[in-house]
Amino acid sequence: MRTKKQHSAGGVIFRERDGRIEVALISRSNQTIWSLPKGKVEEGESVEETARREVKEETGLEGKLLQKLNSIHYFYSSKEEKALFSKTVDFFLFKYLKGDVKEHDWEVESVEWFNIDEAIKKLTYKSERETLEKAKEILYKKK
Ligand code: ATP
Repeated sequence: MRTKKQHSAGGVIFRERDGRIEVALISRSNQTIWSLPKGKVEEGESVEETARREVKEETGLEGKLLQKLNSIHYFYSSKEEKALFSKTVDFFLFKYLKGDVKEHDWEVESVEWFNIDEAIKKLTYKSERETLEKAKEILYKKK
């Protein structure tokens, strides 16, 4: 099996409601998987542009990019492509500006706002939970 590199970017988009911080998560597979919006970096695109585009496409939301959060790494194998993927995803923090979760992509099952602590519990992948923990740390320092 060949190993192929894959590079994606995504974001944590947050808003304040009644003094509490909420973030938008996307779900797949009958709401058994909850994750952060992300997608592959296309040719000629910067990682920041990818993150902004994917957040908008997958959640229907637009935000102001504040800073980089982290990069995560994982491996997965694809039978169809007969390859092992070594994947890096760069995550950025976005402050919600406009848009509605009802305008999300058809590929995504649903998009919901969660209180940040609830969202940390909801996320399927440990590495994304760490990304959100980092966002929480930054946002609470700002308060
Ligand atoms: P992208 O959203 O970047 O276009 P994709 O939808 O094609 O990606 P992934 O979300 O990377 O693909 O999913 C490919 C495989 O990796 C799936 O089996 C998924 O469960 C697994 N996976 C996704 N995110 C993580 C993660 N953070 N840690 C470990 N495994 C993950």
